[in-house]
Amino acid sequence: MLGKALAGIAAIAMSSCFSVAQAQDIKLYAFSSGALTIGKGILQNLGPLDPPIQIPVGFFVIKHPKGNVLFDTGNNDRIIKDPSYWGAAFNALKPVNTPDMAIDTQLGKIGLKPDDIKYVVVSHLHLDHGGNVGKFPNSTIVVQRDEIQNAFWPKAGTGGPYMIGDVLPLRAENKDYPNAVKMLQLEGDLDLFGDGTMVVKRWVAHTPGSQMMTVRLKNSGLIILTGDNVYFRENVEKSLPPNIVLAYNPSGFLTAYEWIRHMMATEKADFFTAHDPDAFKAMKKAPEFYD
Ligand SMILES: [Zn+2]
Repeated sequence: MLGKALAGIAAIAMSSCFSVAQAQDIKLYAFSSGALTIGKGILQNLGPLDPPIQIPVGFFVIKHPKGNVLFDTGNNDRIIKDPSYWGAAFNALKPVNTPDMAIDTQLGKIGLKPDDIKYVVVSHLHLDHGGNVGKFPNSTIVVQRDEIQNAFWPKAGTGGPYMIGDVLPLRAENKDYPNAVKMLQLEGDLDLFGDGTMVVKRWVAHTPGSQMMTVRLKNSGLIILTGDNVYFRENVEKSLPPNIVLAYNPSGFLTAYEWIRHMMATEKADFFTAHDPDAFKAMKKAPEFYD
């Protein structure tokens, strides 16, 4: 009993050297950029394909004292007026494309405009995560270099979910310095504000340059934003990767699930996914927030 109490005190002492002052002022907001329709068995291998299910297209905003951070950008707003932009993917995925899904309208729910975003962190650049990445000309894009390369020139069998039009605005004419916007092209992890509250973690699973991000909150604890490295909570609980068409590196999923379970057990962490309908329903949505 005493040992447990001492361990608790040690944990509190350790967390207090972790800039608690910062964590107190951080707010995490969840949004959905419409919805998609897909067979569950694509997102959870060996699951049923019929009838298809409707899934949210989650993205997140974190208000930090040193700047606002957007994690993923949803479906490109262009499909609201021009469904043909997605080609065959529009009929296959049946996105909800009502005008209120536009990224500006979504950010407006919490009083922000695109120019108020300091960093845009993309879990990966598939059409439902990097869709609006070109709409933040005054932000810094945080992406794995492997991912931006794959979006422009996909490895065999991985190109289907990228829209070249989503990423072209990031490319300048200058061949030697082709960034049209400020960009951090990572080849690993990044402590975004240098205070441990938000850490981008490279984790090659869903795509060649997938990344997740941890957010340390005062009351809600450590939240792991998974991007598509986790589709359903059940996938983590039962070690179920998606179908191979969405699993660039299948064993990367299994190690990600293992790490998430470890963080839940040791740090009381939790994780937020983009596409789990039940988990999303249970989540507080903007303008409500986690702190
Ligand atoms: Zn994806």
